Amino acid sequence: MNNKQTLLRKLPAINIILEQDRIKQLDSHCPHVLISEAASETVQGIREAILTDENAGDKITDLDSIVDIVIEKVRQKTAPNLRKVINATGIVLHTNLGRAVLAKSAVKAINDVAANYSNLELDLTTGQRGTRYSHIEELLCRLTGAEAGMVVNNNAAAVLLVLNTLAKNKEVVVSRGQLVEIGGSFRIPEVMSQSGAVLAEVGTTNKTYLRDYESAITGDTALLLKVHTSNYKVIGFTAEASVEELVSLGTKRGIAVYEDLGSGVLVQFTKYGIPHEPTVSESIKAGVDIVTCSGDKLFGGPQAGIIVGRKNIIDKIKQNQLTRALRVDKFTLAAMEATLRLYFDEEAALAEIPTLRMIMMKPEEIKSRAENLLNLIREKAGAGVETEIIAGFSQVGGGALPEADLPTFLVSVKPLSISVNKLEQRFREMELPVLARIQKDRLLFDLRTLFDKDSEIIAINLQQIIEMG
Ligand SMILES: *Cc1c(COP(=O)(O)O)cnc(C)c1O
Repeated sequence: MNNKQTLLRKLPAINIILEQDRIKQLDSHCPHVLISEAASETVQGIREAILTDENAGDKITDLDSIVDIVIEKVRQKTAPNLRKVINATGIVLHTNLGRAVLAKSAVKAINDVAANYSNLELDLTTGQRGTRYSHIEELLCRLTGAEAGMVVNNNAAAVLLVLNTLAKNKEVVVSRGQLVEIGGSFRIPEVMSQSGAVLAEVGTTNKTYLRDYESAITGDTALLLKVHTSNYKVIGFTAEASVEELVSLGTKRGIAVYEDLGSGVLVQFTKYGIPHEPTVSESIKAGVDIVTCSGDKLFGGPQAGIIVGRKNIIDKIKQNQLTRALRVDKFTLAAMEATLRLYFDEEAALAEIPTLRMIMMKPEEIKSRAENLLNLIREKAGAGVETEIIAGFSQVGGGALPEADLPTFLVSVKPLSISVNKLEQRFREMELPVLARIQKDRLLFDLRTLFDKDSEIIAINLQQIIEMG
């Protein structure tokens, strides 16, 4: 008891902490209220530790250590909650890490409209009110071959809107093999019922034939829907109706065909040794009436839902009241336009859209980046870790191209003084967090998803973590 009283008495008063030079230096850029809050919380925390455990407060009653804790608390309180992280997982479209990283021109475009006024809804030639969709519609049409196009908040919104506009209280024929759930429990059947459309399931999980669609058509059928099962693959004893078959059936019976591509691709992946992913132009060319896809999956742009297709359908969607609720803001439009413009020159698109650049990155380039990181780590944290370069695979992620394993090189780090779980946690909790994957007792850094300057930061952080133990 005596010991506790002595320790408690040694604790500095809040105002003494606030008068310390190192704390005062914080003042100029931190709100004072957060600093005094941090000081009170720190002292209170130590007080409680002393009361519950004789030894807990032993080391931390000296002023200098308390100031350290307060400064760290202030750092945590002032750091933004949503912030940049380093992605060393090798998953290019990592849903938890914000999916697609934007091209530099897209970032600049966002900046320009964010910091200035813009002609968002003004036609500069006539001086009359314009529409926000006009900035991207022609670009979308030229790049996909569609008659008309628009973008909304995300592809989930696009699906909802198309179904609500074209099939409310009507039937939509869809294969049982395509009633998918996409990450974040977005389920096609549930979105359909939310939209007011009535689901007419046909076929079985592994086999659906054109005749199944045909016999499901009634006077109430509004759409034939094909969902690209982007996040899984049915293999083995399978059959599905092709887009062309659905289009010929739709044409014969006067029913529109809608394809939800999920991941919108504008380049032929097979040219670059990556498994085929249906492109938007292929669907349009095949005669699909309306196509939707995501802006921030393989397209590599901002979060958005891209809708392209026949003009009369797009016009109807634009007039749907729901469209207003799901509309995109000026930042998205700016980034979307800039990204679309890159696609006019495929080489520029592959070089400048990070998603495409990372997916297409050659193993030799990844290997040389891995060697660079390995050298930096050996230079800075050599003694505390065992390191080597190993071959492995990266993933596209975001529910896209599930069967594409991209050969990669990883830097493997085995910490000698702490556990690998601890190392992973410490990297994750740094001011600039680094996300990497654990394999057995090693932490693996995939060079595919790192930017050039990231390697240096990883090596420095590793050195710090190892030194602190
Ligand atoms: C990802 C995906 C969606 C949802 O797209 P978001 O842009 O994430 O809203 C819808 N349909 C399919 C087939 C998808 O793959």
